[in-house]
Formats: sequence, structure tokens, C-alpha cells
Amino acid sequence: MEPLSTTAIVLRKVSYGDADLILSLLTETKGKISVIAKNAKKSVKRFGGALDLFSCIRIIANPSRSKDLLFLQEASLIHPYDHIRTDIHMTAYASYWTEIILLWVEEQDKQSSIYHLLEFALENLDNGHIHYDLMSIIFQIRFLVLTGFKPNLQTCGICKKPLDHINGLTVFDLSKGGIACKTCYHGNRAFYLSKGTIKQLNWIISDNIKLIQRLKISDQSIKESLLFLETFLPQCIDAFPKSLKFIYSLR
Ligand SMILES: [Zn+2]
Repeated sequence: MEPLSTTAIVLRKVSYGDADLILSLLTETKGKISVIAKNAKKSVKRFGGALDLFSCIRIIANPSRSKDLLFLQEASLIHPYDHIRTDIHMTAYASYWTEIILLWVEEQDKQSSIYHLLEFALENLDNGHIHYDLMSIIFQIRFLVLTGFKPNLQTCGICKKPLDHINGLTVFDLSKGGIACKTCYHGNRAFYLSKGTIKQLNWIISDNIKLIQRLKISDQSIKESLLFLETFLPQCIDAFPKSLKFIYSLR
């Protein structure tokens, strides 16, 4: 097997014995991988401080006897995104996004679009160009689209009445993953979303991600969207990220 040379983002880091670290990385070309960084704890120089959480790095890794673990040969820093680690809100959100990826992405399953989404989210969190609450909305909705869980926010899932013709608050039926008009909805697992919030979520789904920095969204819509996505996304991936509890405790 050839050595793997790629860019990667550090998702998780755990100690292994006295000297080594095991890291979970999301790579641009090979999906999620686990690497062992020999002597990384004993010699700081060995990897030049490139192994901090959320850092974007370039790596060379060699195969080992275990199919699921590679030897980290070299790692150099592309971007440390170090503002994130100095702010508790930013750290909480970055931990949530990386945990979602750890829970969902299979080992060595190429997911370049998810890699680029995470890179975009960390970059804009770090440089402060997008507020962390809005960035979390963008990350979650784009993640749902990329993983095939895009919510239906256009028409009632049953009678197909378009959003603009649905009066008052709109029901989002969690069990069906889409909106419904009040006449059609008879379940008991629903969210009520305002039309303004749904329109803004549709805009985030459909528009060029690079233009999103210009998006102005009301505080009420931010709250509504976060509450909705932090319920719907864990349901889609069938797991409750532990870092969500920490986010709740900060609010
Ligand atoms: Zn209907």
C-alpha cells in the first residue's frame, strides 16, 4: 500500500500509553481515518504542534498491520484555527460539528463535500465572519442535504400545498421529515416554525454557500432554527451528540 498524503482536519485526539496519541482525522481524499502518532506526547517537536483539535493539517501516513489504523509519518499545519480554542462558545460548536461527523461518517469512506463543509465552518467560526449561531444553522442544514436527509420545507408533504398558501404557523412533522399544513397533520411529534424561518432555511439550502455571509437573519429565526435542527439532525443520524448538552448549558 502507498503512503497516504492528504489534507485533514483533527476531529478527536486521545492518549495512547505514555508517549503516543491516537487521532481521528477527516481527510479530504480518504474520509475519516484513525492514525497513531508515535512519541507525539514525548516530543512536541516531532509534529510541530500540528495535532491540536480542529486544526487543518497536511499529513503523510503509512499503512500498519491493522487495516483501521495508520502510522502518522508527518504532519504540518495549514491552519490552526486557534481562535476557536480560546472561546467557549466556538469550542462548543466546533465540538458538536466534529462529533456529528465522528458519529456519521464511516472509516475510509471518501466524503470530500463534508470535508469542505467542515473546513468552511471552522474557517468562518475562527475568523468571526459568520456568527457562531448562524454558522451552526448553516453547518447542520448543509450536512442534512449532503447526507440525503434534506428536510422538505417547500410544500405540505400530503396535499402538496405550497408554503406560501399555508396559513399561520407551519407544522414540521418530525416523523416525515417535512412540513405539513394543519388540515393534513394529525401526528404528535411536530415543531411549529414561522414562515420567515422556513424561507431562510430554504435560502441556506439552495444558495451558494459563499454568499451566506451576507445573510441577515432575525434573533427569533436563529433560535427557532437552532432548536429545530438540534432536534431533527440527531433524529436523522440516530444518535444524540454529547456536545449538544454542553451547548444547552451555555445558553
Ligand atoms: Zn396539506
